[in-house]
Amino acid sequence: MVSMPDRASKPAYDVVIIGGAIMGSSAAWFLTDNADFDGSVLVIERDPTYQACSTAHTNSCMRQQFSTELNIRISQFAADFVKNLREYMGGDARVPEMGIQNYGYMYLADTEEFAGALREAQKVQLAAGAGTRLLTPEEITAEYPFYAVGDIVLGSINTVDEGYWDGGTVFDWFRRSARERGVEYIHGEVVAMTRSAAGDRVTHVTLANGETVACGQVVNATGPRAARTAAMAGIDLPVEPRKRFTWIFKAEKPLDRDLPLTIDPSGVHVRQDGPDTYLAGCKPDPDPAVDPTDFAMDHGIWEALVWPILAARIPRFEAIRVVTEWAGHYAYNTLDQNAVIGPHPQIGNFHFLNGFSGHGLQQSPAMGRAMAEFLTHGEYRSLDLSPFHYGRVARGEPIIERAVI
Ligand SMILES: Cc1cc2nc3c(=O)[nH]c(=O)nc-3n(C[C@H](O)[C@H](O)[C@H](O)COP(=O)(O)OP(=O)(O)OC[C@H]3O[C@@H](n4cnc5c(N)ncnc54)[C@H](O)[C@@H]3O)c2cc1C
Repeated sequence: MVSMPDRASKPAYDVVIIGGAIMGSSAAWFLTDNADFDGSVLVIERDPTYQACSTAHTNSCMRQQFSTELNIRISQFAADFVKNLREYMGGDARVPEMGIQNYGYMYLADTEEFAGALREAQKVQLAAGAGTRLLTPEEITAEYPFYAVGDIVLGSINTVDEGYWDGGTVFDWFRRSARERGVEYIHGEVVAMTRSAAGDRVTHVTLANGETVACGQVVNATGPRAARTAAMAGIDLPVEPRKRFTWIFKAEKPLDRDLPLTIDPSGVHVRQDGPDTYLAGCKPDPDPAVDPTDFAMDHGIWEALVWPILAARIPRFEAIRVVTEWAGHYAYNTLDQNAVIGPHPQIGNFHFLNGFSGHGLQQSPAMGRAMAEFLTHGEYRSLDLSPFHYGRVARGEPIIERAVI
């Protein structure tokens, strides 16, 4: 539990960030790190335990195997940021040296159509400097003899800056360093917003305790609750909480080498966790929007679906035992499962930091940096994220990202 006061110390802030998990904290931290920004920042967080947020339920991996260049570039910055966290944090000796467990993601295609999509994506990835390799079933067996590949047409893997990273530690340091640099965090739930008479700005946010805080700019970093928050300003946002299940299991016969984050054609994924433990995940079918307080686990799905798929793909997983399991929520962008960032076209001081679906943890450094740039300069300076602006949502024009997990 992070101790946070219940009230803001001032009546007005230059930037009010709603939601203080990894996205809100990244934006706050990058503001403090921007030499041209000298404003005041308030982060309002409804749950200082962070137990219910997506960040607490993540699988904490990063990949460059996306099909759009911008998503690849975003993850490349994540890799650089994580590997150089201490330097980014000003050389602070308290910040741990971090790395990435580069076992890669192994996409397995069981149809020519899917193999074709992997080939196309590899071209984009190589052009962006990623190290993606395509493997025939024979090549997969030579490197990873534990897979059953009888039905597999093609594999795709990248073992450079792709795999597990410690997102929890990066989140802790975003928050800790932001607070040390003057960002104020309070415990509170934003329940309403007031717009100017012309309707083109949010002037105040109102908390559940009745307090109102005036804002120069307001940032929606509320994860699966993002649509509720946007609605407070009269904005429609197609983001909903969708359940995702995770199991940690122990194998009686552990594999001889780290298991890549394997994307089975069925959609079930599995990766190395500890030395003899593994992490598996999947989505429910059907996959409805759920209440953000609904964390009920579907206990049947492991026996009925996940275990049989794992044992068929990796026969050594015939004898495995679940150690722990949880349900978490994606902030699922129903338009295209991609980020929505930037200002609202009409309510210009309302900024989105939403819709990251299953890849927000790795996007948090680039998104936070971009948000800080936009709030400070009114434009992006390092990576132009304007394709992710709300305009495409309003027009109903999805960004087609084929590599969605
Ligand atoms: C099972 C699972 C596996 C995942 N695996 C990966 C992965 O391997 N790699 C990856 O990159 N991403 C992964 N993700 C996605 C990633 O975890 C999320 O995209 C990321 O954590 C989103 O962070 P956030 O700060 O936007 O949202 P959250 O972590 O949900 O934070 C939102 C915060 O806003 C607060 N809040 C909400 N409403 C209000 C309000 N009205 N007032 C004040 N505060 C409010 C909440 O309390 C919460 O703390 C996974 C997600 C899940 C669920």
